[in-house]
Amino acid sequence: MMEEYRIPHPNRDSNTTLRAGKLVCIGRNYAKHARELGNAVPTSPMIFLKPASALLSSGGVIVIPSMSNEVHHEVELVCLIGKAGSHIRRNQALEHVAGYAVGLDMTARDVQLKAKEKGHPWSVAKGFDTFAPLGSFVSAEDIADPQDLTISLTINDQTRQEGHTGDMIFPVDELIAYASTIFTLQPGDLLFTGTPEGVGPVSEGDQLVAKVDGLPPLEVGVHKA
Ligand code: ZN
Repeated sequence: MMEEYRIPHPNRDSNTTLRAGKLVCIGRNYAKHARELGNAVPTSPMIFLKPASALLSSGGVIVIPSMSNEVHHEVELVCLIGKAGSHIRRNQALEHVAGYAVGLDMTARDVQLKAKEKGHPWSVAKGFDTFAPLGSFVSAEDIADPQDLTISLTINDQTRQEGHTGDMIFPVDELIAYASTIFTLQPGDLLFTGTPEGVGPVSEGDQLVAKVDGLPPLEVGVHKA
């Protein structure tokens, strides 16, 4: 059973931890990824939520649930909110980010496709325990520009996803400004900023290594329930 997930505050001079809050996730934020799944490129950010109970630390094991035969990896840049805000201005948005990490938005694609056909939400497809692996955070002060980072994922040492955060349709500051018109953002909330192209299935025994420039790599295994 998942216990409360706490995140060490990434500021060097801080000994505090933040309780993980809501996981605000963005779909289709890279044009090539939207197209690879046959989706139109959005004209405003497409938002969904994942539960904090889905978080998994680096070194953990993703569990493919019995309900799914096709769980996909989506490597993403993740922002940790350090300062609360609502209706945040875009030009002040990055002041609300305490740090950055590499994350995976694991997705039961077969479950999601059925939900899409029926017009049902994605909570199940995206929300299983272990479906939000998360690396360690680096202080936002140490990341000069979140839109100038390479992002990649290897499985068993083979490259599967390779992208650049400069290709986001909606950059981090715009995502925070937009999301904060819907939800008050609170310290400990996480923003998953979308995945570049190359998503695909994982299998029992796979070793995933997700990387973003300047951030500690995220390494997880895979187990089929
Ligand atoms: Zn995603």
